Amino acid sequence: MPQFSFEPVVMPPEALKLRQEVRAFLADEIQKGSFTPAVGSMVEGDEAFSQKIGAKGWLGMTWPKQYGGGERSSLERYVVVEELLAAGAPSLCHWIAERQSGPQILRHGSERAKTTILPEIAAGRCYFAIGMSEPDTGSDLASVKSRAVKTDGGWRITGRKVWTSFAHRAHYVIALVRTSGTPDQRHYGLSQFIVDMKTPGITVRPIYNLYGGHDFNEVTFDDVLVPDDMIVGGEGRGWEMVVGELAFERSGPDRFMSSYPLLAEAVDEMGPDPERMQAAELGRAVAHLATLRRMSASIAGMLNDGKSPVTEAALVKDLGTTLEQEIPEIVRRILPVEPRGVGSDNGYVDLQQLAQMQCVSYSIRGGTREILRGMIARGLGLR
Ligand SMILES: Cc1cc2nc3c(=O)[nH]c(=O)nc-3n(C[C@H](O)[C@H](O)[C@H](O)COP(=O)(O)OP(=O)(O)OC[C@H]3O[C@@H](n4cnc5c(N)ncnc54)[C@H](O)[C@@H]3O)c2cc1C
Repeated sequence: MPQFSFEPVVMPPEALKLRQEVRAFLADEIQKGSFTPAVGSMVEGDEAFSQKIGAKGWLGMTWPKQYGGGERSSLERYVVVEELLAAGAPSLCHWIAERQSGPQILRHGSERAKTTILPEIAAGRCYFAIGMSEPDTGSDLASVKSRAVKTDGGWRITGRKVWTSFAHRAHYVIALVRTSGTPDQRHYGLSQFIVDMKTPGITVRPIYNLYGGHDFNEVTFDDVLVPDDMIVGGEGRGWEMVVGELAFERSGPDRFMSSYPLLAEAVDEMGPDPERMQAAELGRAVAHLATLRRMSASIAGMLNDGKSPVTEAALVKDLGTTLEQEIPEIVRRILPVEPRGVGSDNGYVDLQQLAQMQCVSYSIRGGTREILRGMIARGLGLR
């Protein structure tokens, strides 16, 4: 029977040294007031901050130098991502582009896409959105109805995407559309396109979330022209591309550390002498966090070796989002607070409220709990 494989990973000395550098930089930025720590990587975006990180060489770190990268290891990148999340740094602008779209373009994009887009992502100046979900297509992604039709020198896309995070500030969206066949032909005939958000025919409409924030959108494509060389991986290979991409999307520290700044703040709030029950509850959360870290770092090691640990990534996301959702509950139990509204003068209260409202979405975005568990069962040969 197939089994999970989580080979232990030892962080190399250069990653440990880098961690200290990143930590010192972030502490300095907080002290200078350049940002206030927030929960979740996908909440706050600050172009100037992303550009500072880019100038440090901390974006696109694993990519070739000719495309603006640093030719460093996945484990060094892992350390940077972990520290940004731990500090609650405003990383939203570059997040999707650096985590997911850039690696996809590097592996499957045209030479023009690589030379024009990747250096901009690495500099923290170019941002992406993911156009997979549609009004009737979420978990069942193969049923997308948006279509692209071949024309001279390119493709014309028509359709509607929904829940498109960050589309209102992104420079590009990678859209999954049908280029041949019909929705009931499932995985056959899907393709991915890099679409410049400035192209005529694109309309972006905000969708407000539970706490009134504008994170995601509905994006409509009306006969939008995309050049031939902005197809990713070739016509008809969209499904293969999506599956590969999701291993990157599901396994990183952003799938178990979204609530970390709240946990850290709660430790400070309790002080050096917590009650027994408080220590036990926090101890349990920290033990889970430590285990998830090892599992997630192991996946980073596998991705570094060119493997595609899809089942393991699904497991990390399922367990990780469960912990991210538990943390606000645990903190609420052991440290009761009066709701005072976001923007109060108490950072801990703000974090708690934001975490509580945001965490509902963690087990939906990037693949729901039920879908992940189905994948895990299939990966283990149980269905
Ligand atoms: C915060 C957030 C950000 C997002 N950002 C993006 C984005 O940037 N780009 C993008 O493309 N999408 C994005 N999404 C959309 C997300 O990927 C979808 O919401 C998700 O895939 C679920 O799809 P759905 O909402 O259509 O729910 P459905 O697929 O309709 O699912 C509804 C319920 O049915 C269950 N279910 C469905 N099928 C099965 C099955 N076969 N077996 C068992 N149970 C099943 C699901 O688990 C779920 O509980 C985002 C979502 C959130 C919450």
